[in-house]
Order: sequence, then structure tokens, then C-alpha cells
Amino acid sequence: MLRLDSAVQYVKGVGPRRSALLGSRGIRTVEDLLLHIPKSYQDRANFVPLVSLRIGQDAAVHARVYRSRVIQTRTRGRILDVVLTDGGGFAHAKWFHGGFLQAREFSAGREIVLFGRVDVDRYDSKFVFFNPEFELLEDSDESGSLDIGRYVPVYEEVAGITSRQFRRTIAGALSDLTKSIEDPLPAEIRKAHCFPDIRTSLERVHFPEAGDDLSQLNQRQSPYHRRLIFEEFFLLELIYALRRVQSRALKGVRFETSDRIRQRVKTILPFHPTVAQKRVLKEIVDDLKAPYPMNRLMQGDVGSGKTIVAFEAIVIAVENGYQAALMAPTEILAEQHYINAKRILGPLGYRVCVVRRGVKKAERQELQEKVAVGEIQVIIGTHALIEEHTVFNKLGLVIVDEQHRFGVIQRLQLMAKGENPNTLVMTATPIPRTLSMTLYGDLDLSVIDEMPPGRSPIRTIHMMERDADRIYRTIAAELEQGRQAYVVYPAIEESEKVDLKSATEGFKKLSEVFQGRRVALLHGRLKSEEKETTMRAFAAGEIDILVSTTVIEVGVDVSNATVMLIEHAERFGLAQLHQLRGRVGRGSHLSSCFLMTPGRLNDVARQRIHAMVSTIDGFRLAEVDLQLRGPGEMAGTRQSGTPEFRVANLMTDTELLALAQKEAQSWVSRTEERQKLVEALSARTRFVTVG
Ligand code: ADP
Ligand code: MG
Repeated sequence: MLRLDSAVQYVKGVGPRRSALLGSRGIRTVEDLLLHIPKSYQDRANFVPLVSLRIGQDAAVHARVYRSRVIQTRTRGRILDVVLTDGGGFAHAKWFHGGFLQAREFSAGREIVLFGRVDVDRYDSKFVFFNPEFELLEDSDESGSLDIGRYVPVYEEVAGITSRQFRRTIAGALSDLTKSIEDPLPAEIRKAHCFPDIRTSLERVHFPEAGDDLSQLNQRQSPYHRRLIFEEFFLLELIYALRRVQSRALKGVRFETSDRIRQRVKTILPFHPTVAQKRVLKEIVDDLKAPYPMNRLMQGDVGSGKTIVAFEAIVIAVENGYQAALMAPTEILAEQHYINAKRILGPLGYRVCVVRRGVKKAERQELQEKVAVGEIQVIIGTHALIEEHTVFNKLGLVIVDEQHRFGVIQRLQLMAKGENPNTLVMTATPIPRTLSMTLYGDLDLSVIDEMPPGRSPIRTIHMMERDADRIYRTIAAELEQGRQAYVVYPAIEESEKVDLKSATEGFKKLSEVFQGRRVALLHGRLKSEEKETTMRAFAAGEIDILVSTTVIEVGVDVSNATVMLIEHAERFGLAQLHQLRGRVGRGSHLSSCFLMTPGRLNDVARQRIHAMVSTIDGFRLAEVDLQLRGPGEMAGTRQSGTPEFRVANLMTDTELLALAQKEAQSWVSRTEERQKLVEALSARTRFVTVG
């Protein structure tokens, strides 16, 4: 008898060779095998007689080969032409690139099942199927077998294992599976949503019965599909819900907010906060005052003003006698936060420092000592914050900016430097709600869904390289008005592709084009101090054009810059393009973003550019990105560890995800059930790597 966790090798017909093949594609256990669900289903119970075929119809036919031959054509290469008959009528099936097909396998009299759209041959007006799906039957196949006389599952081939072989292997696994499988879904939830039990679902998702709805099956919307999808989401959301309950039970650092502290918070504001900023601050303050440690994600589009909210939280921490640490993904961003923190928090008398690599040992030690004794209250840095053995005196607040650039581990490492400190994670990579629910499901979510007032819109224009002169004229005109410009290139040097203009070369060219203007170059290989000096000069308006690689992608905030020119825009991801565009449009002046590309673009690149031109809404773009690339490839999510779903699909199954989250939360809130859940979960290790 097989169990779900038995090795796939013990399934009938799977020897060591095939099990190795399957294993290489992630199918190791019986459960893995059973979750390799069909990509589609064919109705092979109701074959259409050849005499009743109609043009344009999608039909399954069951016939015998009458005759077959390979035709050599001048324009289309080899074509395999098979004449079919079922006694009543005739039809043709034609496969182009027939060289791949063996004519002799289609020997006269051979039984065949074929599925496709009925067309008509231009030359002899006979019915023909062009490139249909097909299966040659064995003599032993008969009505009621796996391959015929029913809705038949069609599988994606994996490692050379055909759909037909999968059918047998899976049928074998199902028939040898122990009768009692413990259902990971509580009976109550199954009942509430009419989900079939696990065994029925696994059986029928592979071998549906006559009464099942074929179109539902093909849309992955049958009750069996829905149940399996729900289960996958539910188990993940349970883990998150449990973590949240556990973290709520922890005793964290608790802050007070007296009138005096509230007053201090107000003094740092250089402008009126937006309604969204106020709301998010209140959500943060509620967490800070509560006995449990805060675990909150602040999401807000590029330029929505997350920094000042984070600074407000810092004021509360410091006024309560604690230290606050802010970690940023790049040195430029850490430096910018440092400058802002000194400017905004300095007047309150706070001591601020920045921790980064490449600082002289003596200097670093001196800083570390001051941090260790609590003389410095606000500590800003890059990864160096966790790497360089910084010891804190009393760390009460941890802030991670642009979390999508870090892994979850790094967040936890920084948190471990305090005792259950309050943690605020910020991200500007707008990710669709489904992704944030699966990626950051253990965090409470605050969203800044409003832009500060007085922003001028950004116009986004797609330009060809040959039109560069026109863009240069626009840039020149902006500089004339006292504005500044960014020009961004995808690579530092001509290392990768010869045709790729590098920032260094671009810098030379632009220096010539804009003689008399101050042009500077910024890239990742410069020393920290050089980067810093350049950034500072640009921020101070001492540089007109900043030529750069993507090191300026995140966070950089210079409101006088009004032009963003992205060269080779087709090489950038959608999230990156959006981030880069977010560097302009930060002041009251009208800004432009030029996406420059060579003449010919591939499909995906064209769609990305089109999306950029048609919207500036980061969340809309994130949805497009998800559609174009799939969740596993979404910017920055890979290192944060997107869970891999077997059956569920984040793009289409959003409704079930929301349902699963709701059920998981209410289930976890009932204490007596929790222990059982933990046990059930630990038996299902698929999600252990998450978060
Ligand atoms: P992001 O959310 O991308 O990190 P920032 O925090 O860098 O955005 O803010 C973008 C710019 O908007 C900064 O120059 C900041 O000073 C400004 N800003 C933020 N909030 C407001 C506000 N309520 N009113 C006016 N300007 C604001
Ligand atoms: Mg920011």
C-alpha cells in the first residue's frame, strides 16, 4: 500500500530510471505525482462520427488509419498526411514538419484518437485536422480503458514521460493508495464550502466521471480543483496566521505616546502629512503602544512619502529611550537617509550615524562603541548593519527600507539584535495583493495609497534611439530652466554585449553633447565616498546631468530633477522601469520619462513599454508584470522566497486565496484547534521554506 509520502519509485511501473527522471523535476513522492494535475481534459466518451463533422468544430474522433504518407512540399517542408476512416466517413489529418513524425507508425488499420479543429482542405475540399493532438491506441485499449470512452486527462510531458504514461502511472498510484488518507482540511470547512474530501478530489481531478462538467474541469474550476487549490492556500495562510498569533503572544518593546511625545513628532514634519500618511502612522502607533512587538509592512508607491512616516516612528522610539535602526539596500540610499535623518532628527538633539563597509577600522570601532553604550540613538546602514557585528544598547525599533531588495533572513537577523523589537518593513515595489498575501502574510499591512499634493504628472514617452537628438533638445531646455536630468544605462562597461551602450561610454558622449554643462557619472563600482560626493553634489544642484547605472533605482530623492532618460529600456524589468521613473516628478515641475529603445522589440518588451506609457499606477503595473512573468519571476520576490504552488495559480485563483486567508485566520483564533493544526502542518513539509 502506498501513502502520500511514499517515494514515487514504489508506484507500479516506475522503476529507478523513471523515478530519477521524475525526481529531477521535483516529483519525488506519491503526493508530488498526484499533484501533477492534467493540463486539460478531452471528451473521448462522445466521439463525433466522421460523416457528421462540421467545419470550425472542435471535435474528438475515433478512427482507423486508412493510408498515410509524407509529402515533400516546396514551401512548407515535409507534411505527414494521414487519411482516417471510421467506416462511415473519411477525413484527413495533416502535420507540418512531418519529419518529426514517423509515417510508418501510422500503419493502415491502426486505431487512433484525435482531437482538434475541423478545417477544410483548400485543394480538394475534404475535412482536415491541421496539427491535431492525437494518440495512437494499442490493441489492448478498449472502451472503458484509461485512454478512451471517458473524459481523458492530458498531462504535460515531464522529462520525456508522455501524457499516456502519466495516465497509467497515476492510475496505478491511486489504486494502490491506502484507503484512509487523513484530510488536511477540517471537515467543517469542507462542508461549509462543499469541498470534496482529499481522496475523491485526487481521484476525480485525474479521472473525472461522466457527470462531471468538462468545461469546469478545463478551467481548473471543478470542485476537485477548487478544493486542491484552496488546500494549498489554506495551509500557507495557516502558517502565517499561526505566526501572527504567536508573535502577538510575545512580549515586545512597548512605547508610550504622551502629549509631549506627540508634540515632538509633529515638530519634525516639514509639510502637512497626507490622509494616508496619518492613517498609517496611527496604525503604527497602535502597534507600538501594544504589548506585542510590531510586525508591519508599509506599502506605498514610489514617492508616496514613506520615509517621513518611518522617521515619526523613530521619534517615538527615541523619546521612549530606545535606539532605532534603519537598514537600506544600497549605500546611496543609506547615505540619503542619513543626510535626511540628520536634517530632520538632528534638531531634536538625536545622535545619528551611518554604518557601512569600507570605513577605517578605528573610525568604525569608535562608532560601534557609541552605538553599544547607547550614545547614538539612530543607526542607519546597509547590510553592514547586520554583517559588521554591530551591538546595540537598547534596540527598540527596526526599519527595513525597500524590503524587496532583502531576503526575509536579513530582516530577522536585524530583528535579532534587539529583544522582540518593533519592526517596520517598507516596500515601494507595488506587488499585487495576492502576492503580498503570500509573500508577507505574517506581517500586518499598511498602505499609503495617496500621493503628496503638488506633484506634477510625469509624461512617459517611448522613443527610438535614432530620435536621441530630440530628447537631448528637451533635456537642454529643462537644464535651461534650472532643472536636472538623469540618464540611466543598463550596464557599467561593454562587457556583456557589444551593442550595449554602457554608462561610461554614454557619459563620454553626453559630456560632448552637453558641453558647458556639469555631467557626472555614477555606478556601482565607484568607492563609497565617490558615490556619496556625486550624489550630494547632484542633490545640491551642482551637477546638471547624472549619468548612472541602476544604482539610483531605489529611493533617491531629488525634487529638482525633471528628466529621466532610460537607455535600452527594453532591458529593464517593469518594476525597475517604474522605480526609475519614480526618481522624477517629485517636485512641482512637469517631468518627463523617456524610454529609449532600438528599433525592434520582442513581444514582452513591447508590452512592458506599452504598460509604462499607459499608466503611472504602480499597482496596475505590478498586475501587468505578474501577468507577463508569473509570480516566481516578479521583481525581488525570488530572493524573498515566493512559495511554489502545485495546483494553485496566483494570477487566477485570487478569490480562493482570499477565502483561504479568511478561513485560516478564523480557524487559528480558536485555540483548542491550534495544536492539531500544527501537527497536521508539520506532516506537510511543502511550505516549510516559506518566509
Ligand atoms: P518613498 O515613499 O518613495 O520612499 P519619500 O519618502 O522619499 O517617498 O518621499 C518622496 C518625496 O515626497 C520626498 O521629497 C518627501 O519629502 C516628499 N513628501 C512626503 N510626504 C509629503 C507630504 N505629505 N507633502 C509634501 N511632500 C511630501
Ligand atoms: Mg523610499
